[in-house]
Amino acid sequence: MISYGKQDISDADIAAVVDTLRSDFLTQGPKVPVFEQAICELTQSAYSVAVSSATAALHLACLALGVGAGDVVWTSPISFLSSANCALYCGADIDFVDIEPTTGNMSADALRTKLVLAEQQGTLPKVIIPVHLAGHSCDMQAIAALAKAYGISIIEDASHGIGGSYLGQPIGCCEYADITVFSFHPVKIVTTAEGGVATTQRAELAEAMTRLRSHGVVRESSSLLRPDEGDWYYEQQMLGFNYRMTELQAALGCSQLQRLNQFVVKRNELASLYQQLLMALPVTPIEPLDASTSARHLQLIRLHQPKLRKAIFEFMRSAGIQVHVHYFPIHLQPYYMKRGFQVGDFPRAEAFYQEILTLPLHPGLTIEDLSFIADKLKQGFEVGIKV
Ligand SMILES: *Cc1c(COP(=O)(O)O)cnc(C)c1O
Repeated sequence: MISYGKQDISDADIAAVVDTLRSDFLTQGPKVPVFEQAICELTQSAYSVAVSSATAALHLACLALGVGAGDVVWTSPISFLSSANCALYCGADIDFVDIEPTTGNMSADALRTKLVLAEQQGTLPKVIIPVHLAGHSCDMQAIAALAKAYGISIIEDASHGIGGSYLGQPIGCCEYADITVFSFHPVKIVTTAEGGVATTQRAELAEAMTRLRSHGVVRESSSLLRPDEGDWYYEQQMLGFNYRMTELQAALGCSQLQRLNQFVVKRNELASLYQQLLMALPVTPIEPLDASTSARHLQLIRLHQPKLRKAIFEFMRSAGIQVHVHYFPIHLQPYYMKRGFQVGDFPRAEAFYQEILTLPLHPGLTIEDLSFIADKLKQGFEVGIKV
């Protein structure tokens, strides 16, 4: 089976993890800050907080920005569930902004329209979470300008995006966001098995997320609310979690980051090859905006004949190619429909979902693999038309 996404683990990665296993620390040791420092350098952000997953990072980012009961958070319906669930973890409400059909990303125009209406109705969101689908940056300049005009915070869900750039700056630099979140799940660009990180330029947000990731506990003498009892003493000042990243994960992450650029270059090469190979087929590959470089997490294509998707999907899977669909719109999940969302609420997202197919894309693929996939896709159309 040619998988749609796959980690690339080298001998150096394995050695880094084994060395850490033999060290004094399995968790809360020196490797996590080293990993955080590497993330700061890569993204040109002042602070980063490594955690157990991007889902945890999204949760902490919402909490650090003060999201709670009575607040509303807006995100994209075309994303993984975490982008929406994080608001509900905080007791807030979630709503969605429809997408741009060419990218599948949150539409700045739809956002503008929705903000005007929300202002009239007194339902403006506290935080907006744009998602860089496939690693392709959203139109952050436009989104950030709108957020600023209405006093709304931004969390970029860049789970797909590490190693990409937008308007000449690395994704994660937080030029257009309060906090950016990355995922290190094995299908993403670099992995720590499970893991995530939040970057920010604001010290107080970094501090809040750092405390919240470990039970809301404070140790530094200068920050204690009660008199310092001694070296053993720590204080819980808020309700936090155990969202810590382990040393093993951080060691793997540090080692993986050394090949990030190589991975992103390879993914971009494969994506251009796909463009050439698919030119004659009735499909449109989803491409990043101009003036941005995508980390190319996913190769999405739009089928001009969405009715054929199911037959093509099944044909590809039976040919040993793990095609996929990213994503079923979040608002149509049974859980979210129970909360009141309906078919037709976000028509462009729903239409996008009907048209898309994800082709395999990861650094382990060869030119031959892509030719095989393109050939099978061509056959898939012929089979699909007959069905
Ligand atoms: C993978 C993913 C997440 C969640 O990442 P985890 O590290 O698995 O928690 C969140 N948002 C998006 C868009 C993702 O693709």
